[in-house]
Amino acid sequence: MIKPDGVANGHTGAILEDIIKGGFKIIALKYTRLSKEIAGQFYAVHSERPFYTDLVNFMSSGPIVAAILEKDNAVEDFRTLIGATDPSKADAGTIRNKYAKSIDANAIHGSDSDENAQIEGSFFFTAFERF
Ligand code: GDP
Repeated sequence: MIKPDGVANGHTGAILEDIIKGGFKIIALKYTRLSKEIAGQFYAVHSERPFYTDLVNFMSSGPIVAAILEKDNAVEDFRTLIGATDPSKADAGTIRNKYAKSIDANAIHGSDSDENAQIEGSFFFTAFERF
């Protein structure tokens, strides 16, 4: 998911280009906005963390781009492509290094396991929206 800051700062095209150049195939793509309720569900795993309310408010603050991506070893390779959660610690050339400003507004989300990728993909897309 390209987060609200990535979209608002005009980085959608550049980020999608980096993803495609990184060898990922786009299976599904959507421009939409999360309600607070849906953002809260999406990040329910973090509901006990001190930053949860800020995270939900931020993730529902503007439009996002959701995608399902396909590649061998996709989860790990995507984490490498996007870089560390805190952009100040993200390796040079990674998406968060290039396009993110803070740990809150860090431009992009990637699933942390194949299982969560299935769950998160189903948040946004029906079977008829995947190609
Ligand atoms: P990710 O998988 O790299 O996105 O990181 P996590 O799953 O651990 O956290 C989810 C999101 O919560 C991150 O992308 C950040 O936007 C936010 N987040 C994580 N840790 C912190 C933190 O310590 N402070 C704040 N403000 N936000 C955080």
